[in-house]
Amino acid sequence: MVARHDLTTDPRLQDALLQARRGTAFFARKLNELSDDELDGDSLLPGWSRRHVVAHVGYNARAIARLIEWAATGVETPMYLSPAARNQEIDFGATLSPIALRNLTDHAAVHLSVEWRDLPDANWGNQVKTAQGRTVPASETVWMRTREVWIHAVDLNNGATVGDIPAPILERLLTDITSAWKTRGTDAGLIIAVEESSIRYGDTSNPDAVVVSGPLAAITAWATGRGTIPNTPIAPAWM
Ligand code: ZN
Repeated sequence: MVARHDLTTDPRLQDALLQARRGTAFFARKLNELSDDELDGDSLLPGWSRRHVVAHVGYNARAIARLIEWAATGVETPMYLSPAARNQEIDFGATLSPIALRNLTDHAAVHLSVEWRDLPDANWGNQVKTAQGRTVPASETVWMRTREVWIHAVDLNNGATVGDIPAPILERLLTDITSAWKTRGTDAGLIIAVEESSIRYGDTSNPDAVVVSGPLAAITAWATGRGTIPNTPIAPAWM
C-alpha cells in the first residue's frame, strides 16, 4: 500500500523532513528563476558552473535515496561507487540539455521524498554509510540533504544568501563545521560567538582560543567559506 504521508510517527523526524523539503523547494525556486542560458554562468563554487551545482544536487538526492533503499531492504548500496565516479557523474550531468538537467534534479528530489515517506519507524535507525565513510542511522540522511539543498541554493549565485537559511539550520551547520575543524585539526583554536545568542561553537576549553563573533548569518557565511568578516582571516576549509 502506498502511503500519502510520512510513515514515521517521530515528531522530531517529521519536523526534520519538513525542513529538508522546504530547502528542496527553496533550491527549486532559485533554479526556476534562472533562464537556460544563465545555467552556463558561474556558481559560487570554484571551477563549478551553475550546471555543476544543479547536477550535483540531483545526483546527491539519488545517492541519498540509495541509502534509504539500503535502510529499507538491508541490501547495502553505497552513495557513490568512488569519489572519482561521483565527480565524473557531476561532470557528465553538467553537459546535459537544460531540460534534462532540470528534470534530473526535480525527479531525483521527488524520488527521495517518496523513499523517506515510505520508510517505516523501525527502519530509520538502520545503519548506512556516508560518502565520507561515516556510519550513521538512516535518520541522519535528512540532515545531510537539508544542508546540501540550502547551501547549494546560495551557490547558484542568483540572489539567495545565507541569511535566507532558517536559523536552526545555521546553528546546526556551525556545530558541524567546528567539529569538522576539530576532527581535522584545522580549527586553529577558533571559537565562533554568535551575536544573537550566548551559544559558542568550537573548543571553548582552550584559553588561547581566538573568538570570531558576528551575526548568525554572517558568521555562518564566513565559516562555510561563503563570506568574510572584517579583520578576520578566511575560515579553515570545512568540506
Ligand atoms: Zn554538496
